[in-house]
Amino acid sequence: MNVQASNSNLIKSATGDWEVVVGLEVHAQVSSNAKLFSGAATAFGGEPNSHVSLVDAAMPGMLPVINEECVAQAVRTGLGLNAKINLRSVFDRKNYFYPDLPQGYQISQYKSPVVGEGEVAVDMPYGTVRVGIERLHLEQDAGKSLHDQHPTMSFVDLNRSGVALMEIVSKPDLRSSEEAKAYLAKLRAIMRYLGTCDGDMEKGNLRADVNVSVRRPGAALGTRCEIKNVNSIRFVGQAIEYEARRQIGILEDGGAIEQETRLYDAGRNETRSMRNKEEAHDYRYFPDPDLLPLDLSEAHVEELRRDLPELPDAKKARFMSAFGVAAYDAEVLVAEKESADFFEAVVTRADGTARDAKLAANWVLNELFGRLNREGRGIAASPVSSAQLGAILDLISEGTISGKIAKDLFEVVWAEGGEPRTIVEARGMTQVTDTSAIEKLVDDVITSNPDKVGQAKMKPAMIGWFVGQVMKASGGKANPQTVNDLLKAKLGV
Ligand code: MN
Repeated sequence: MNVQASNSNLIKSATGDWEVVVGLEVHAQVSSNAKLFSGAATAFGGEPNSHVSLVDAAMPGMLPVINEECVAQAVRTGLGLNAKINLRSVFDRKNYFYPDLPQGYQISQYKSPVVGEGEVAVDMPYGTVRVGIERLHLEQDAGKSLHDQHPTMSFVDLNRSGVALMEIVSKPDLRSSEEAKAYLAKLRAIMRYLGTCDGDMEKGNLRADVNVSVRRPGAALGTRCEIKNVNSIRFVGQAIEYEARRQIGILEDGGAIEQETRLYDAGRNETRSMRNKEEAHDYRYFPDPDLLPLDLSEAHVEELRRDLPELPDAKKARFMSAFGVAAYDAEVLVAEKESADFFEAVVTRADGTARDAKLAANWVLNELFGRLNREGRGIAASPVSSAQLGAILDLISEGTISGKIAKDLFEVVWAEGGEPRTIVEARGMTQVTDTSAIEKLVDDVITSNPDKVGQAKMKPAMIGWFVGQVMKASGGKANPQTVNDLLKAKLGV
């Protein structure tokens, strides 16, 4: 449900406006050492068919045994999505044939999923969009078919076969590619905070099936197409943009949309038809006779709820109320748990007292993130630690160094490491706050530029030029505020 619908989301066309309607089915690999129904490892990148138990290979007579940690992870995720946890759920067989599916069916959940309806708050520039969650169910992943290893043969790698997936189905509450991207990023962040899915899209640990339809504003839902297995947030946005325009083109030409499954080709930035969409009854779902219904106790669910970590929304609210961080800054800081933890470590001194949060947010978001981005590094690989950055901020706050010297100091710490205060002392980077020393520099600049002094009396903005000259003469070490005050007094502006 859009709390604050935005008209800017409408797609303009010569025949009038169109609204795009999007729902996402996200497959998230459960973070767990073992598979959903076997003890085989889930580690990525093993030799083909090296992590395959007899259950995963569907040997006759083998029985699945539920991995309770995978169930706990699904419940944690459900709680993180503010969703209803179903104390009884049922595993079903979804029947289809594929060479990398040795059972001939996928164990999934159909009518009774482990998690029911929930909601995710997505912050957009025009307000918060509340995206409904329809359900979350547990299911097995399939293996992988390898077609390009040999000219005439295909191979099957069953390492992924039986790995636990959470399928998270949203309601069709998204109204633009931007909203869909923001929702997927938020979902990923929530699961990474919870530790229930690492969200590594390059490894295929988070994939989205994207349902797209278009309609005239206020009209009934249009026929949708499902774009399968999109594996990056950017591609989700591009696939929606392309697909919406394709459908609008067909409708404006008087055609009708056929419900079908499509593929997104990132190389060509287009979607292509794969097959007509199967109906649920094509899969012949029925309860898996090898598995009892999954019963959870209220006490177990409450225990998992109690142990949940602080999630992005709560952390953002706390950064705003406890530290006075601006809403947008707080949002950027909490988008990744590592950044939020880093900021919190910078803003908090070892003795528990808080540093200037505005200054800390500014340095983390601009100086540090900017430098990390330029080097293509993540926060975990930052050469400047939170303790070192905190020490630099203390030197600024107490007036020992100016903001400009702090930037030089940051570069020294980045390149060479070391304790900021020791570096400042050893290299004489201390800011000059001694008024008489600065006054001498100010006087020098004024006496050697009598013409500029005359101009400054007519045009007070000229003072900036004088400040620059004095700062230059001091080697960047003069306290800029003191320089400014002295110049104003002496020039009488
Ligand atoms: Mn699925």
